[in-house]
Amino acid sequence: MIDEKGILFILSGPSGVGKGTVRKSLFEKDTDLKYSISMTTRPPREGEVDGEDYFFKTKEEFEDLIANKQLIEYAQYVGNYYGTPKEYVQQQLDAGNDVFLEIEVQGALQVKENFPEGVFVFLIPPSLEDLKDRIIGRGTETEDLVTNRLAAAKEEIEMMDYYDYVVVNDQVDKAVQTVQSIVRSEHCKRERV
Ligand code: 5GP
Repeated sequence: MIDEKGILFILSGPSGVGKGTVRKSLFEKDTDLKYSISMTTRPPREGEVDGEDYFFKTKEEFEDLIANKQLIEYAQYVGNYYGTPKEYVQQQLDAGNDVFLEIEVQGALQVKENFPEGVFVFLIPPSLEDLKDRIIGRGTETEDLVTNRLAAAKEEIEMMDYYDYVVVNDQVDKAVQTVQSIVRSEHCKRERV
């Protein structure tokens, strides 16, 4: 018999480590996981679709969501709000579906307080040098911002001890396979007759 409730998986890690790429690649594969689409006040990037990539909100709308306690967690990141909708996650878990969040570190720590039974996965770069190359490679940051992001990443990496699993993102495919095996293992842990 499988547990009736779904499992909440949280993928987090420092800025620039490639969480989004790993998550997208995971969901391109056949997966039964339900991705919780986040709310954000960040404007859509080219090609992003409301309700697919994010639910794009105004600052006022987002602050209403906070005031009405409709978010499991939220954080401010580079001047914008990001948060996880409570209703969707709870409905899916109650229906027995596994839910997958891809969020930054501050938000993940809040989820840990409210859902200690969640499975917390920390994605790390092979080295800080590698992370610096990735942040620079994005080409969107000034030199000062790169320095700030790296300093923030060093602090975020210290949060690693709060997580159940650490996955090194040296190759996206390998990291995705590791996340898939974590999902399988967690099901085996909960399998009971
Ligand atoms: P981006 O603007 O590049 O899509 O995302 C910026 C950061 O926000 C990434 O680290 C991403 O993981 C994080 N993020 C996305 N959705 C959420 C959310 O719902 N809550 C939190 N705390 N972080 C999020």
